[in-house]
Amino acid sequence: MAHALRIRGLVQGVGFRPTVWCVANELGLPGDVRNDGEGVLVRLANASPEQVETFMRELRDRLPPLARIDSTEIYRIGDFGCDRFDIVASERSAPLTGIIPDAATCPACLSELFDPGDRRYRYPFINCTHCGPRLSIIRAIPYDRANTSMAAFPLCERCAAEYSDPADRRYHAQPNACPACGPRLWVAGREKEDPLALAQDCLRRGGILALKGIGGFHLACDAGNPEAVRTLRQRKRRFAKPFALMARDEAVIARHAVLQPGAAELLRSAAAPIVLLPRVPHCDLPQELAPDSAELGFMLPYSPLHHLLLAPWTAPLVMTSGNLSDEPQCTGNDEVLERLAGLADTVLLHDREIVNRVDDSVVRIMAGQGRPLRRARGYAPAPLRLHRSFEQIAPTLGLGGDLKNTICLLRGRDAILSQHLGDLADARTRDAFEQTLQLYLELFAFKPAVVACDRHPRYHSAGFGQRLAQEFSAPLHRVQHHHAHIAAVMAERGLAIDHPAVIGIALDGLGYGADDGLWGGEILLADFRHSRRLAHLEAVPLPGGDRAALEPWRNLLARLWQHGLLQNTLQKHPDLAIVDYLRQQPLGMLQQMLTRGINSPASSSTGRLFDAVAAALDLHKERIHQEGQAAMALEQLALQGSPETEPYPFAIYRQSEMPVLASEPLWPRLFEDLARGRTPGDIARAFHLGLADSLIAVTAEMAERHGVGQVALSGGVLQNRLLFERLRAGLTAMGLQALAHRDVPANDGGISLGQAAIAAARLAAGEG
Ligand SMILES: [Zn+2]
Ligand SMILES: [Zn+2]
Repeated sequence: MAHALRIRGLVQGVGFRPTVWCVANELGLPGDVRNDGEGVLVRLANASPEQVETFMRELRDRLPPLARIDSTEIYRIGDFGCDRFDIVASERSAPLTGIIPDAATCPACLSELFDPGDRRYRYPFINCTHCGPRLSIIRAIPYDRANTSMAAFPLCERCAAEYSDPADRRYHAQPNACPACGPRLWVAGREKEDPLALAQDCLRRGGILALKGIGGFHLACDAGNPEAVRTLRQRKRRFAKPFALMARDEAVIARHAVLQPGAAELLRSAAAPIVLLPRVPHCDLPQELAPDSAELGFMLPYSPLHHLLLAPWTAPLVMTSGNLSDEPQCTGNDEVLERLAGLADTVLLHDREIVNRVDDSVVRIMAGQGRPLRRARGYAPAPLRLHRSFEQIAPTLGLGGDLKNTICLLRGRDAILSQHLGDLADARTRDAFEQTLQLYLELFAFKPAVVACDRHPRYHSAGFGQRLAQEFSAPLHRVQHHHAHIAAVMAERGLAIDHPAVIGIALDGLGYGADDGLWGGEILLADFRHSRRLAHLEAVPLPGGDRAALEPWRNLLARLWQHGLLQNTLQKHPDLAIVDYLRQQPLGMLQQMLTRGINSPASSSTGRLFDAVAAALDLHKERIHQEGQAAMALEQLALQGSPETEPYPFAIYRQSEMPVLASEPLWPRLFEDLARGRTPGDIARAFHLGLADSLIAVTAEMAERHGVGQVALSGGVLQNRLLFERLRAGLTAMGLQALAHRDVPANDGGISLGQAAIAAARLAAGEG
């Protein structure tokens, strides 16, 4: 009996066909296997149903490390003559589905790398079907060598033999290379010398090394050398943001950070992300690595070059993105010599071009689960699987927001979320946005039938949306920011396209509201098509507009003013640092501005509330260098507060029936506590707990009123572990089911998914 097996998932470019070939040969089953536009098609010419079952079981047991089977359909077909098992070449016309993420060096390649008898001994570009660069080197489909930056390196005879032998680990490994035919390494300006020796020398002397990685350049230095770390900070003009660290193995990491449950698996995974881990007590690494933080971001070496570089190091190395503060990471050799000149003492280059910038991914473990803060290398562009009710939707493109931008292609149940692209205010990031968009449309042979973007009228992403909608003659959906956040959770947690409304808690910096106001602390009633505001944080003016986002003290001033507490607080606590600071500001003019509403738009932002509390505690009160900096410092402080801390009170009042959470009652308490010398950790903690508890109370009331049992949590503020864990536990204790992100960032990096899901659902319901 002849059978066809249709297999979908991550099955191309991962060594799937050779595994099929091995299994079929071992079971003595003739037939063939091919890649096509839907995945892999296996035909077995003469197999009983039992043999087909055995074949599938064996295949699943021996699945290559980077493969993932999403679905299998087995059906009978007409007999076809065949007496052996073949791998059939792909048809060039069929779009392949198999663009997989870049993957960390696999154990087999690693042992060859350090085996003096191997022909790739100490070769910095060793890879195989189970590991190596992918998304970072692809230019076009189909995914074969000619369409990657490996096209410049014709395979030597031995590499070519591996490439065409189905029994070899390097069968169809597009970036396959060896010292005879592949890329090479050198130090800029010293081409004739040993590059690794020069690099080690630079690091040992406390210098700054620029090195070309998989998806971009890094700047590295000895993390145990405070002088080197300070120099790097000054040259990079990155004053507060934590530096990522790379250690040669987990034992080195464990000396400096606590490996929470699940951390080792994440670090060791093929994605090899940066994992944020609590510092061990008395950690002897310089505080300058992460000035405001009790956590350190660690990753393990993920390229052969990293392994060679880290091998002699018992201390971690700083491995931070190769850029000036706020700029996108460099990817080109000429670019790095131009832009990073003056930053690095030694520049380690190679001649395998990085076609697509792919930053390191960042993961934080919250409530026992790794959750991405930045989703890029190792994760993108592997599709996320949505609920089966998305099967029939029209191809939908979501363009994300202007901060932490990503784009998302919805194709049936597959949501293809791009790697983190960054802040579209930077012209280079906008170029990367356009390039990535073109690449993804081509890689996935995608023609959008509907385009979705943010409602914000001044967003660059919304401008792109308008242009693309025109280009594809597709309708444009402008999606409310916080609705998109909530829909992103609903989509990734597998809710059906017509799932009844859930309560959404969306807490972030700023998003354009449904009423054209500036929102950021929202409780919504939302399904995939609609959302309605049920409750929110109090709207407080942002004195000075955009300046309030960078100067935390302005947000404290606005709250004290709004609640009529300003004069009293200034008089009562003249000795407090923050009071002294406020007195030095032009308070008369500022109060006039606030009273008359001049350049002081009101916002329900949760981020600005955190800034206000941080300012009161003298944390970055004057100025921050990036959004969320003061809030993150406040969280780190709160994590050190006593577990016995009682929450601060919040007020809940009604504004035309709608509950509004106000911080009014907490300020007198907070200033009293400050004045009597209560530890800042306890104060920060009391604020976190109070905010969480008042959100839980309002959510529970709304859930009851609307008969809803599920609560979706999203928005950048929910990357705050203390707040997130308190909220989640509190909601669960109320009998509510808390839905939270696991695969997609809670910050604006996830909203392209939410936008696309909303637009697709509206179109499916005839609301296009
Ligand atoms: Zn490998
Ligand atoms: Zn070779």
